[in-house]
Amino acid sequence: IMSTQDTSEISIKVIVRVRPHNERELQDNSRTVVEVVDDKMLIFDPKEHETPFFFHNVAQKGRDMLKKQNKQLQFIFDRIFSSTATNTNVFEGSTKNLITSLLDGYNCSVFAYGATGAGKTHTMLGTKEDLGITYRTVAELFSEIEKQTKHREFHLGVSYLEIYNENVQDLLHKSGQLHLREDGRCGVVVAGLEPITIQSAEELLSLLAEGNKNRTQHPTDANKESSRSHAVFQVYIKIINKLDSQVQRVKLSMIDLAGSERASATGCKGIRFKEGANINKSLLALGNCINNLADGIKHIPFRDSKLTRLLKDSLGGNCRTVMIANIGPSSLTYEDTYNTLRYANRAKKI
Ligand code: ADP
Ligand code: MG
Repeated sequence: IMSTQDTSEISIKVIVRVRPHNERELQDNSRTVVEVVDDKMLIFDPKEHETPFFFHNVAQKGRDMLKKQNKQLQFIFDRIFSSTATNTNVFEGSTKNLITSLLDGYNCSVFAYGATGAGKTHTMLGTKEDLGITYRTVAELFSEIEKQTKHREFHLGVSYLEIYNENVQDLLHKSGQLHLREDGRCGVVVAGLEPITIQSAEELLSLLAEGNKNRTQHPTDANKESSRSHAVFQVYIKIINKLDSQVQRVKLSMIDLAGSERASATGCKGIRFKEGANINKSLLALGNCINNLADGIKHIPFRDSKLTRLLKDSLGGNCRTVMIANIGPSSLTYEDTYNTLRYANRAKKI
């Protein structure tokens, strides 16, 4: 089935977030390979200066000359967050103003992309001290709804599911594998999925925590299994206009993607991903869909995976997409960072 897209309606914002060095990277004799120039530009694998220069208040020393030539690649993105940014900063510069579009009728989706350990879950879920952008975005949604209740009535349901090995599992109810069905009116629906009604963003916190416990493996483990699953959080909003009783349905999707290291192993060289035996199907399909959308190609292969089927109406058509590419700062994750930057760079060309 060919999907025709009005490209003028498609918008994707590509954001890069650099996490701080971890203990190991500080102890090892690793070098910083990401230089954030300003909030839109970074240099990957910068040339090392003759005289020491200061980066995050740390003097960078010259390196031995046996090292291969530095790439010194400049990348421009819609927004770049350096390692000192908090989740509040990231929220304010990424998803905060999505809510206006959402309530104006655009389906919105937010992806955290990156290798395992790059900071995806920190960005989406966060910690008690620094709550992630999922909570913050929903809190913003409630606060915007509050301002509009005079003219519109809102009904909210949330779901939280996991896609692991192309199996869809509800993280909020104990159920077996769920199936995707085409529904004439609502597009693709997850059969048997029961959205939970929430009245406040606070109610969401316990749901998110509960859902995460039910993930194939706890997401904070640097664990093989959890790094291969996508956690898909969705808010379904039914808006009733009090004046004419018109009903509108919109959806917000926030996805903590599987680790991209397996996808990058084949090299996302820009044309098409090659599918290998051990490669995450949904992550590859997402890359291909976004690449085709970016290139203005009419055929978008939504049907190639569970994730892209599920998000068909949130990627193509009337939608807003935010991609947050998470990277590490250190030479220890050089290849992952390089691949993620290239992936993110391809995604922004819409
Ligand atoms: P991923 O979900 O991409 O595998 P995580 O979000 O679990 O990665 O991050 C890996 C580790 O790095 C975690 O211990 C996390 O707390 C830490 N971390 C990631 N990003 C940040 C950040 N911006 N600030 C502080 N710690 C971070
Ligand atoms: Mg994670």
